[in-house]
Amino acid sequence: MTTANTKIKKHNFSAGPSILPQEVMQKAGKAVIELDNIGLSLLEISHRSKEFISIMEKARLLVKELLGVPENYQVLFLQGGASLGFYFTPMNFLKEGGKAAYLKTGEWATKAAKEAALVGKTEIVASSEDKNFNYIPKGYSIPNDADYFHITSNNTIFGTQLKTFPESPVPVICDMSSDIFSRKVDPSKFAMIYAGAQKNIGPAGATIYIVNPDLLGKTGRKIPSMLDLQVHIKGESMYNTPPVFAVYCCMLMLEWLKKTGGVEEIEKINRQKADLLYHEIDSNPLFKGTTERTDRSDMNVTFVLLNELLKDDFDKMWKEAGISGLPGHRSVGGYRASLYNALPLESVELLASVMKEFSQKKG
Ligand SMILES: *Cc1c(COP(=O)(O)O)cnc(C)c1O
Repeated sequence: MTTANTKIKKHNFSAGPSILPQEVMQKAGKAVIELDNIGLSLLEISHRSKEFISIMEKARLLVKELLGVPENYQVLFLQGGASLGFYFTPMNFLKEGGKAAYLKTGEWATKAAKEAALVGKTEIVASSEDKNFNYIPKGYSIPNDADYFHITSNNTIFGTQLKTFPESPVPVICDMSSDIFSRKVDPSKFAMIYAGAQKNIGPAGATIYIVNPDLLGKTGRKIPSMLDLQVHIKGESMYNTPPVFAVYCCMLMLEWLKKTGGVEEIEKINRQKADLLYHEIDSNPLFKGTTERTDRSDMNVTFVLLNELLKDDFDKMWKEAGISGLPGHRSVGGYRASLYNALPLESVELLASVMKEFSQKKG
């Protein structure tokens, strides 16, 4: 077996599934072989064993502690990804005969609204589709008669981020998949926050729901058990078999975050990483950012080469430097550097220096 840090790994800018801290990978790998000296693997014990129940409990408590979740809110780890969250949302919050309001800021927001339209009436209050989602709409008004207002805090594909959250006359529900735990937020301002784990919290397979239970059970609709948040709350995330490995890794990742200084500390580091890279993009004559400056994401930095003919040379250079996961999403093109919590500052310094060196060679 290799010991800690003996293996040189790539600098991973992948948008998701994405980088996890090395120590999380190592502990997770160990638990697959044997969990905490119990003579069994994490993967072969009952999810109702005291060992796993304590893992689930710890993961849920860490979410509450690290984000400052109100006492009465519930934290769930479920399956289905954020994409099932798109459907969970209207099933549990959109009343029979009611209406849901959506802010259309990208591909995920569009998909969320599409699922809600299967359940009831939806209203798109504002959209940035006119400019290929390169900005966050502002100055819109949220209808008073909506059952909820749905937003996407960070647009993973287009590289924009809500820097502040709207004051809303109705409950706010947020898909926080790609920036949860990256910055301080006030969960009490949301009726529900949900997030697929595989961007910033753990491996694919678990989805976090942070819910105000007071708002549930009011739709007047019969909800299938697996889509009913009240059923999952009652079952303490174990109505059916939870994704045990993913939950364990999330727990390890949250422990790592706590040790790193929590959300406040990681926010400072994330800001530093984003500032460094945006500064390079803005000052480098060969590159250009793809979004409005005020709405730039600290998590997913999107940029293009001004001269497409230089693409092959640039790609060769960053690959040789040990960088991975940089190509942009097909709907934007160019490059996307995802700077999630686990990505160290050194990786961003390396990317910026490669870009600088490239412009010195080609500029
Ligand atoms: C990745 C992503 C999703 C989709 O997540 P799945 O877990 O694959 O369903 C939804 N919303 C946002 C903001 C994302 O970044």
